[in-house]
Amino acid sequence: MRRSFARIKGIGFLLWHGKHMLIHIFLGVLWVWILREFWGMLDVRWIYLAAFGSWLPDIDHLLYFATYGRDDPYTQSILSFIRTRKWRVLVKYIETGHKYNTNLQFHNVYTLGLIMAFCILSFFYDYRLGVVLFGSMVTHYFYDMTEDVLVLGYLNNNWERMGHDDAEVSAPSVPKSP
Ligand SMILES: [Zn+2]
Repeated sequence: MRRSFARIKGIGFLLWHGKHMLIHIFLGVLWVWILREFWGMLDVRWIYLAAFGSWLPDIDHLLYFATYGRDDPYTQSILSFIRTRKWRVLVKYIETGHKYNTNLQFHNVYTLGLIMAFCILSFFYDYRLGVVLFGSMVTHYFYDMTEDVLVLGYLNNNWERMGHDDAEVSAPSVPKSP
């Protein structure tokens, strides 16, 4: 009984702190709803595709951890939390830290412009799966940018930069209480 309660609390913790990702999915699905209104039809596959598309740009983070950001203090802290199984500290660290990770390769206005162009092209060729996919990706970038302004008060400087900057190392401080 106690154990299952702890587990539910654990899931609640993850959901609450993972709300950033939930909002991404929500916005992707919202995009499908707008399209449904516009085209007067709904294909269930669009919902899955939009959910996928709304997360897809965050491949950037995996790329960062696995390649060019591997030696950054940010990555090293995350690895040490995984090694020591400090899951809660890890989740909180990523929650605040991913906002300060200014070194992402594709989180910039150029990628955004390109994907918007793909979306518009798909629209003109009535390639609906493309409109769904690229449009939901666009919502990801828009939300990230909005959140930057809300959380940080400014746009992270990765947005204006094409690619990443080796000289720039971002490492947020470790949250105090687990
Ligand atoms: Zn993102």
